[in-house]
Amino acid sequence: MTLSYQNHYHWQNHGKNLSSVADRYYEPTSAAEIQHIVQTARQQGRKVRVVGDSHSWSPLAVTSDILICTKRFNKILDISTDPPRITVEPGVTVGDTLRAFMQHGVCLPMNVDLPTLTIGGAVSVGANGFSKRWGTYSEFVEEVELVDGTGEIRQIHRERDGDVWRAVACSLGLFGIFTKITLALQPTFNVRVVNRKIEMRQALDDAATVFAQHDYAQYFWFPFNREVTLQTSDVTDAPATWTKGKQRRKDLNGWFETVATHVVKPLLLGFPRITPLFARFASDSMKAGVEVMDQSENMLLGEWINDMVPSLNASVSFSPGDDCAPLRTAWFDAVDLVEANAKAGKYPANLAMNTRLFGKNTALLHCIAGDANDVTCNIQITSFNNPHWDTFKNDLMARWLALPGSRPHWAKQYQDLPDIAGRLRAVYGDNLSTFLRLRQQHHFDPDNIFVNPFLAGLFFNEPYV
Ligand SMILES: Cc1cc2nc3c(=O)[nH]c(=O)nc-3n(C[C@H](O)[C@H](O)[C@H](O)COP(=O)(O)OP(=O)(O)OC[C@H]3O[C@@H](n4cnc5c(N)ncnc54)[C@H](O)[C@@H]3O)c2cc1C
Repeated sequence: MTLSYQNHYHWQNHGKNLSSVADRYYEPTSAAEIQHIVQTARQQGRKVRVVGDSHSWSPLAVTSDILICTKRFNKILDISTDPPRITVEPGVTVGDTLRAFMQHGVCLPMNVDLPTLTIGGAVSVGANGFSKRWGTYSEFVEEVELVDGTGEIRQIHRERDGDVWRAVACSLGLFGIFTKITLALQPTFNVRVVNRKIEMRQALDDAATVFAQHDYAQYFWFPFNREVTLQTSDVTDAPATWTKGKQRRKDLNGWFETVATHVVKPLLLGFPRITPLFARFASDSMKAGVEVMDQSENMLLGEWINDMVPSLNASVSFSPGDDCAPLRTAWFDAVDLVEANAKAGKYPANLAMNTRLFGKNTALLHCIAGDANDVTCNIQITSFNNPHWDTFKNDLMARWLALPGSRPHWAKQYQDLPDIAGRLRAVYGDNLSTFLRLRQQHHFDPDNIFVNPFLAGLFFNEPYV
């Protein structure tokens, strides 16, 4: 088999905080082609990493050797209603699946924020939605087919493979390259989506009650605003009020905001003191209102985001406890740090902070040992890049990671934190040991060809340079 590839390919992630020159870059379209790439790489003693939409901010996929991108390996192979299931190639996007779900009357009962992420990428990092009832993408995996580090095809099934499934379902590409993914779905339903503005302190005081009362809930805050936006969604029998026209208007606004970011970012860098004004304007763009829509339409962002000025992101997940006290601590850690910076004339965070709950997590690298059934709280903050972001993000992450059981979102920025490998070992404990043991015991990657320097530093005690 002869496959075409590009030499010295300049790769950059969407957030533009990562880049590399990959010696060889492939866009395969079949499992057989991936097998060939991996087998040849193994014979030549090379390393291989894979990307989907390259929307992660951590260097999970950075390589100077062989880079595979799945964007042309992107067919929906099967979708059924009884039982509700979808089987896809890994480069299928979240948006492709949502359109298919709506045609077939099925849904994934949780949504991430962006339609362009690939299913392979979302499963590999365990991307989360915003419902306490539902876990991450990994949790919906019924079966995956992957090419392991010897170039062999393997099938891993949720019921049949127990702990191996728990390892593979959120494996950051360390167990092999997914070539086929089957997700368990639900018959579709409508949700009533309500956006309202609430005074910040009141909103956070009521968070535990709000999360208990609603099927889906998340809070948004733009720095320097006294109010937050609370978005709740609840399953309903009411007919949809969301129309194609309203969706088009939302998309049009998205494109308008996208263009605006190219004007605003240089202004924020040149005149950082206008950040509070911008943040108030941005907060106003999240309008209060009520709509009923198909679950698959309840998504924050659209494809326009890929043309926006890229943003950076720090995020952790932790146990919210019964009363959401840790959430309030995390939230006001960020607010206090933003305000302390402003007093010093610095404006490191200029986009939204968001918090949400997500449900049960069985994957080894997604739950705190022993607490797989517990609800998890995720908090994240985004900003356009600026000279003060890195210091701010590291200060904030140090506080956020001090919360009991707290750990970074695999795809977000945590790579610069001192002793992050030690922190991960401490928080994942036996789960991480089991993950690494199963990988070795079942010979998923005997020559470590899927291990890049970042992952070597995190999991294999090697310095990350
Ligand atoms: C605007 C925006 C919105 C986001 N919203 C959310 C959100 O709502 N919830 C959330 O949790 N996260 C969110 N994220 C983060 C996102 O979930 C991750 O970045 C996700 O992995 C991105 O998918 P991707 O296709 O870009 O994957 P990539 O970044 O390309 O890859 C991510 C990881 O998956 C691995 N991988 C990719 N394909 C395969 C494969 N076929 N086999 C094995 N491994 C593979 C890669 O090696 C890498 O380790 C968001 C990011 C952005 C930029």
